[in-house]
Amino acid sequence: MSSSVLNTKRASHVAIHPWKLTESTWDPARHIESESLFALGNGRMGQRANHEETFTGTTLPGSYIAGVYYPDKTKVGWWKNGYPESFAKVLNSVNWIAVRVAINKQELDLNTCAVESFYRELNMETGVLTRRFTARMADGTGVTVEATRFLSMVRDEVGALRYTIQTDRDASLFLSADLDFRVTNHDANWEETFWTHLHAGALDNQAWTVSETKKTEFRVAAHQCCVLKGAPVAPNDSQGVFSDGWASTDWAFTQKADTPVVLTKYVGVVSSFNAPREAVAERAAERAQEAAAVGFEALLAEHVQAWRAKWDTADIVIEGDDAAQQGIRFNIFHLLQTFTGVDERLNIGPKGFTGEKYGGSTYWDTEAYCLPFYLASADPQVARNLLVYRYKHLDKAIENAAKLGFTNGAALYPMVTMNGEECHNEWEITFEEIHRNGAIAYGIYTYIRYTLDRAYLAEYGLEVLVGIARFWAQRVNWSDHRKAYVMLGVTGPNEYENNVNNNYYTNFMAAWCLEYAAECAAYVKEHHPSDYARIATKIDFRETEELAQWDAIHRQMYYPYWEEKQLFLQQDGFLDKDLVPVAQLDPAQRPINQKWSWDRILRSPYIKQADTLQGMFFFEDRTDRDVLRRHFDFYEPFTVHESSLSPSVHTILATRLGYADQAYAFYLRTARLDLDDYNHEVREGLHVTAMGGAWMSVVHGFGGMRLVGDNLTFAPALPAAWSRLAFQLVWRGAHLRVELAPGELAVTVVSGPSTAFGVGTQSYTVTTGETLRIAL
Ligand code: BGC
Repeated sequence: MSSSVLNTKRASHVAIHPWKLTESTWDPARHIESESLFALGNGRMGQRANHEETFTGTTLPGSYIAGVYYPDKTKVGWWKNGYPESFAKVLNSVNWIAVRVAINKQELDLNTCAVESFYRELNMETGVLTRRFTARMADGTGVTVEATRFLSMVRDEVGALRYTIQTDRDASLFLSADLDFRVTNHDANWEETFWTHLHAGALDNQAWTVSETKKTEFRVAAHQCCVLKGAPVAPNDSQGVFSDGWASTDWAFTQKADTPVVLTKYVGVVSSFNAPREAVAERAAERAQEAAAVGFEALLAEHVQAWRAKWDTADIVIEGDDAAQQGIRFNIFHLLQTFTGVDERLNIGPKGFTGEKYGGSTYWDTEAYCLPFYLASADPQVARNLLVYRYKHLDKAIENAAKLGFTNGAALYPMVTMNGEECHNEWEITFEEIHRNGAIAYGIYTYIRYTLDRAYLAEYGLEVLVGIARFWAQRVNWSDHRKAYVMLGVTGPNEYENNVNNNYYTNFMAAWCLEYAAECAAYVKEHHPSDYARIATKIDFRETEELAQWDAIHRQMYYPYWEEKQLFLQQDGFLDKDLVPVAQLDPAQRPINQKWSWDRILRSPYIKQADTLQGMFFFEDRTDRDVLRRHFDFYEPFTVHESSLSPSVHTILATRLGYADQAYAFYLRTARLDLDDYNHEVREGLHVTAMGGAWMSVVHGFGGMRLVGDNLTFAPALPAAWSRLAFQLVWRGAHLRVELAPGELAVTVVSGPSTAFGVGTQSYTVTTGETLRIAL
């Protein structure tokens, strides 16, 4: 069969290694890409791999604090009623890594000096970034630098940095450890600055700055404690310098040739998202001082230990294919450092902490693509917090729907949000891409099926489901012509179609939501009657009438169908298109979103990402294989996979259908999307939410892990290139290790209770500490 997989990958400048990203030459043109790839985070903060010292070449400075955002005034050509006033973006924040260096009064800057050797390494096992280089200054002095830094996984308001420098001849050195808040956002709509600087100071090897975001008034304090060793100066022989939004600790001295000076910087960054406004400065000082008292080595050791614990339940081992191994660990690493689950107010932006695009806001990506990873790789509380996040936004989702004219507690969750309010402002997405509501309900369904924590429904889930069901019940209308409920004017997941009628996926998800909300209401009523009564009163639930209406819509929803080929159509009228498969397009015309006018895209049959197939992917256990095959064979050839979210779904479906080569090609495209820069945009940041899809590709795709009903099952399909695949599952109180080799599946209960699972028609049970080997 023809495939539309397009290999547009670029030769990676990062070497293949199972645990590391390394770069051994200095390539200024690709530095901005490396800044994304080598980025660090700890759930609370993130930092692009910007150089510590001044760099006047091409760079995107990026230091982000989770939850600290600014509502940037909306910029559109033509205002439409209902548009949000602003787009919330996580701001570029204090540059805490800065170390300015002057050698014999010349500033060290890799853009202006001659770089003789360069090595950069991100150790994904330990979460540590290291950089070494040798450069020659204009006056001929050779300088060698080694910089190591990490954002502590144990103390999430602490960053530590060690900067070692030596020259090949006696030289005057000026070192300045800076905290710099005079930063901007590259993507500011109106070229505004977003920070007001409150105060800054420096004394005795310590420096601090406190700034506040305009409008949202998030106060952020950064405080550093510095230690200088190996220089001919007394420990406190520094000068503190500060001005508006900036503070530094400086040293000036003459250093002997080949004698390293080691500057260690311990930084506390505390925001009022996480502490009372009046306490942030003091708390940042405490964080930095505590870190300095612990010392670099011990801080590093506890950080590495924390990463080890994460990898213990999240690692995936692929043997026989180092590129695939590096790819999957890279994805897991970034997912783990973007969201740690400690704070239910936080979520996962499509770029995580690696760039400005998408504003660090939450999309449907979280429920549709990321939740399964966190469910299977960490304590259930981590995934639960992702759900509670949406519960906390329910009131805003109801307000959002009310602004569009919906009533009776109907909830429309935003397409893009920071605090629950919609921030997207393209009508076809803001008002029409309403399928996102379905993903939020599906997230609850996924969580409950996986954990069996049905009490979640009584506590939080049911209210969300009712709000969503009420929205769908009002969004459909009865068509006398079709004698069915229809849904007009929507955009499905395939954003290359707008304002279509009866998008199959949206209609399907809406009908499913109505059915599921009713089922959950019945469950809570029976098992948690007092919660049910509380909720019913709170939301004024007209049980009989509303349930009857939901049932009628669910039973009489309209789905466009092509009888002759037994296919659900993506939307009304899909067959009127000029159905030329992607494979027949001139490759020079792709990606079409860069080469074609929007008008041409909208009229074309080309599909940006899984749409009809997204529904079949969500409900794979209810989808007959032949039905899936028919739809995959029909839709995939029209799919251009121009969303990073597309290849993973196709990997999983292709695996199920036994399309091994296609599955593997899709897999590489998802797992190495950023490493190989398939979309030619890694400079802007990584596709962090798509990384959840990469994880699913391995575990649900090749590992074949699926829930059938409430039961765990495996239908493995090891790619030919792999000699072994091992993954972990945190599963209902147990920690499972699943290993696949050609012809064999082995399941070990590492800890926790005995576990039952199925393979084909057989059922098995493994007891604690035991490994069960099954011939395939
Ligand atoms: C995709 C959306 C997705 C968004 C953020 C878009 O390109 O089409 O489905 O939510 O990116 O990842």
